[in-house]
Amino acid sequence: MSNSVRVVNIRDCAIGGAELMVMAGPCSIESREQIFHCAEVVAASGGRFLRGGAFKVRTSPTAFQGLGWDGWKLLREAADAHGLLTVSEILGEEQIEPARRYVDFAQIGSRNMQNVPLLRALGRSRMPVLLKRGFGCTIDEWLHAAEYVTGEGNEHVVLCERGIRTFETATRFTLDVAAVAIAKARLGLPVVVDPSHAAGQREWVECLTLSGVACGADGLLIETHPDPARALSDGPQAVVLKELPALVEKARRVAQALGRTVAAGARQPVAAA
Ligand code: PEP
Ligand code: MN
Repeated sequence: MSNSVRVVNIRDCAIGGAELMVMAGPCSIESREQIFHCAEVVAASGGRFLRGGAFKVRTSPTAFQGLGWDGWKLLREAADAHGLLTVSEILGEEQIEPARRYVDFAQIGSRNMQNVPLLRALGRSRMPVLLKRGFGCTIDEWLHAAEYVTGEGNEHVVLCERGIRTFETATRFTLDVAAVAIAKARLGLPVVVDPSHAAGQREWVECLTLSGVACGADGLLIETHPDPARALSDGPQAVVLKELPALVEKARRVAQALGRTVAAGARQPVAAA
């Protein structure tokens, strides 16, 4: 597959080049122990980004809403200790500036994809943006949402296919694998695949990961947890942390078959301040 996408550079990571970026971690940051354990295994697997939600958009207001600022502080510490960058969801305009200390890559959640004031504000901020596809949105609507960010002069936009709602209930959402190739071709932006929210159950995360790579994904956003049965959000879809290295290895083999690579091994940790 041709790879004529704009490369988005986030510090020393290039998204959209020959190397696929693995971004993994828990749905929600829950404790120091949990996020540090995840960071260690993500880095050892070749991951470049530690994911973790601190401000969660949950379907129910009584579900765990995240640790907030304390969560972001833990995310930063764990990522720095293991040489990783951070990706985390930003919910509102007022969070953008203070988030810069903690978040390297600002995730816009599926439920916020058409929050135009937020998109414009991120555009003005020049922060790298990971724009998830709204689960009820067409590819065109998704691409227009990206244009709200790029239209403000922010070229650092990466798209994320995370599954759309269909009549199928065997999976949580339906991963639209064709959208990966179509979005790349139409807008020339890198596309990351999130197999976790599409699958809804860990059993199907591996095949969706591999099909995402086969369709040209420039990165993978994977939820993992040391003890999914005790996870405070999205436990059923979390890959068991100790199984992450084997999953990344399989993704690497598919990528290699297509002339691409997935990083192996850890980077240098950032020295504590
Ligand atoms: C998440 O990444 O944990 C998340 C809430 O994703 P989405 O916005 O795709 O549902
Ligand atoms: Mn989640």
